[in-house]
Amino acid sequence: MPSSLSGGKKPLKVAVIGAGIGGLTAGALLAHRGCQVTVFEQGAIAGGCASTFKRRGFTFDVGATQVAGLEPGGIHHRIFSELGIDLPAATPCDPACAVYLPGETTPIQVWRNPQKWAAERQQQFPGSEPFWQLLTTLFRASWGFQSRDPILPAQDPRDWWQLIQAIRPDTLVTVPFTLLTVGDALRLLGLGNERRLRTFLDLQLKLYSQVNAEETALLYAATALSLSQEPQGLFHLQGSMQVLSDRLIATLERDGGKLYLRSTVEGIVTEHGRVTGVKVRQPSTGKVWTETADCVIANLTVQNLAQLLGDASQNPPFKITSFIHQVEKLPPASGAFIVYLGVDQSAIPANCPPHLQFLYNYDGVIGENNSLFVSVSHPGDGRSPAGKATIIASSFVDVQPWWQTADYPSLKQQYTEQAIARLSEFFHLTPNTIVHQEAATPRTFARYTAREQGIVGGIGQRVANFGLFGISNRTPIQGLWLVGDSTHPGEGTAGVSYSALTVVRQIFNNLD
Ligand SMILES: Cc1cc2nc3c(=O)[nH]c(=O)nc-3n(C[C@H](O)[C@H](O)[C@H](O)COP(=O)(O)OP(=O)(O)OC[C@H]3O[C@@H](n4cnc5c(N)ncnc54)[C@H](O)[C@@H]3O)c2cc1C
Repeated sequence: MPSSLSGGKKPLKVAVIGAGIGGLTAGALLAHRGCQVTVFEQGAIAGGCASTFKRRGFTFDVGATQVAGLEPGGIHHRIFSELGIDLPAATPCDPACAVYLPGETTPIQVWRNPQKWAAERQQQFPGSEPFWQLLTTLFRASWGFQSRDPILPAQDPRDWWQLIQAIRPDTLVTVPFTLLTVGDALRLLGLGNERRLRTFLDLQLKLYSQVNAEETALLYAATALSLSQEPQGLFHLQGSMQVLSDRLIATLERDGGKLYLRSTVEGIVTEHGRVTGVKVRQPSTGKVWTETADCVIANLTVQNLAQLLGDASQNPPFKITSFIHQVEKLPPASGAFIVYLGVDQSAIPANCPPHLQFLYNYDGVIGENNSLFVSVSHPGDGRSPAGKATIIASSFVDVQPWWQTADYPSLKQQYTEQAIARLSEFFHLTPNTIVHQEAATPRTFARYTAREQGIVGGIGQRVANFGLFGISNRTPIQGLWLVGDSTHPGEGTAGVSYSALTVVRQIFNNLD
């Protein structure tokens, strides 16, 4: 235990802004390590993009529907072990995804078993094996490096020391590939013009990295594209995604932490460049107060953080303004359009995989209803009444039109109809089989998660924004930390949990 938490000294007082998986994980870990933790969540429920809502007997996962990192040694497994709680029940996704390219009726199935997946891709993309072998080599080295908990990007001598300690001889194999994208690797291997392969990669990478193969950093892709196979894998949680938040909240409260819902942090209070607390408003009670803290963890998008800091005029302007400038220079982030359907089980084809991805037109963009990522519940998984099922279909969208439109309801209706028409090509969707339908847009995400303009999924994992060049967990204000999908290693419940663990370790390193 660090010196400031031992020997009868006062426990470190921590305020966490936001009860997404990032904030809850950081809060639970810190409470478990003896800190006095208070989490403030602006919404009525915790979980953010990994929360759920209920309608007419159906439970819908708001955003995240599948989870990585539950296997032994995986990040959720490690954190739940440290917290001394059981992981939620889950079933492996096999295939992790069934991908339908335009005009094709047989999907590319991303199998969980590595040999089965190798056979599938060799059949689907003849001649591409050197690319997959390169990914495997880079993944093994990167995964080993990552599992030794480097701090990325390192900013402080202690971070650098931690990072250097994670390097092994095999890590060096990744060095020549640090500045390459997937597009570069395909060209180097003579696969640059393989349209089916490139389109498949575009589709899958967009899910994990926000950007296509041409732009995604090769080292990021090596990990993202390898996580679906054993001994890692993707999992479908029993009940709903909410179970992840519920367990973290139970642990936080067990260890003396507090969670305040409907409590918005409106300002960060500092003194001489160091955080001293947060300004909180509870709109329902009209109560406004300053919560003092030795340390503040912001579970926000970096864009939201920049806005909060922009108001902190008493801080040294040069540090703040250069941070805000860095954020303003980031390429635009995506939003999502999502259709949530509660359907009769007869709408679902037999043996339907839990996750599917469709591209409708080679010429169109990925997203904007030209592609859909679809999650389907299965009987007994806790998401629907007997004889019914949920279908959740999402596509990436540009957020701007959703804010600029003069007729938002019509735009939403148009997207909804188009998505349901697309889905009807695979599912048996009629007025009789659709029991409930609802849609979410960037405006919905902005309203329920307070994410700036409703952007989702973090920073695109381009070479310029990945790893050493990413957004740091350290902020320009001492004692103020950033966790969540804007920081390394990126989006996903596993990614944000890693960022939370990293910050907890950095806080404790600083105390030593
Ligand atoms: C459509 C979609 C599908 C996805 N699919 C998957 C998937 O299958 N698997 C996967 O792992 N990931 C998936 N993701 C990504 C994943 O959901 C996110 O990366 C992750 O949940 C983000 O967690 P977070 O803690 O960083 O942020 P958030 O979930 O955004 O949590 C931040 C919290 O902070 C609160 N907050 C914001 N501002 C304030 C404030 N000022 N004061 C108080 N509280 C505040 C918000 O209400 C929110 O609860 C998906 C995302 C989307 C949108």
